Amino acid sequence: MRVRDAVTTTGGSMKHAFVVALVITIGATLSAVSVSQAAIESTFIHGGDDRSSWVGPIQKIKDNVYWIPGAGSNTLVYVHANGVVLVDTKVPNYGQVILERVRSVTDKPITHIINTHYHSDHIGSNTFFPASVEVVAHENTAKYMQALGDFTLPYTRHGLPDRTYQDRMTLLSGDDAIDLYYLGAAHTDGDAFVYFRKARVLATGDAFAYQSLPNIDFGHGGSGIAFPETIAKVASTFRDAEVVVGAHSATPFKPRDVADYAEFLRLMAQHARTSFQQGKSPQQAFDGFSAILPAKFKGYALGLPTVRPGGGVFVVLFDELRKQAAGTAPAGPESK
Ligand SMILES: [Zn+2]
Ligand SMILES: [Zn+2]
Repeated sequence: MRVRDAVTTTGGSMKHAFVVALVITIGATLSAVSVSQAAIESTFIHGGDDRSSWVGPIQKIKDNVYWIPGAGSNTLVYVHANGVVLVDTKVPNYGQVILERVRSVTDKPITHIINTHYHSDHIGSNTFFPASVEVVAHENTAKYMQALGDFTLPYTRHGLPDRTYQDRMTLLSGDDAIDLYYLGAAHTDGDAFVYFRKARVLATGDAFAYQSLPNIDFGHGGSGIAFPETIAKVASTFRDAEVVVGAHSATPFKPRDVADYAEFLRLMAQHARTSFQQGKSPQQAFDGFSAILPAKFKGYALGLPTVRPGGGVFVVLFDELRKQAAGTAPAGPESK
């Protein structure tokens, strides 16, 4: 999800970021909970909150692999021989809750944080954890995090990535090994796919927005044109995965679901291109999209809240197609 974009769009402050992140979180993972924005504001901005209540209980996925939903991204927890690896740290000020949830399953120290991309609902609580925790991310994600300004103070600098990779990196070794992949532009151009080799669990960040239209951060290398190909690569690269965990999904998925999603994205990109060439508006493209979808995608959510009115993700796709037509955007799936 694109909290920072939402802030830019509304011209708001970090208060807005909090509210937006929480609304997204509640909408995405705790849809059964009905809470008004006013209630969120009174709870989170005016104090007296119990942050713990906004974060779900830690849930076991496989041996040594857990997830903690709520308050921004899901946080994935991996217990290895000598410590604990976290994937994403939710919105700001949730480090203590994350730690408490982890402590309910292990006393081992947190050794690493992997950030799947730079959005604030994924990196927000990095700085809670001590400098001894190694932060790992794709090199473009590290660049975007450095540009945010959130990590410029002496006591926040340690939240920035300590280690980066370009295409692939393996963290830890033997049975503990974790493979990090970059497979091309999608949500941003720094999306990490994190594979826990022995457990055969894949964490996808926001690049796998299962059963809904994706968010594309075009300003940070995201690409609706490359997105389908990148997700097809995810499906083929991790076909042996047993569990796939999206950053805002309420349930785990299978590699087959990722392959389906790649097909859905391909239809989205094709429909955008056709509509663009026919001179339609992004809103017309959006309105006509459901009619071209095969029955297997009828249950997908096409009308999720978007920070861009006037056609949702098709606004971004049209921007990209326009830039491509003008020769200012690289064509095809290899664009970074
Ligand atoms: Zn997100
Ligand atoms: Zn995101």
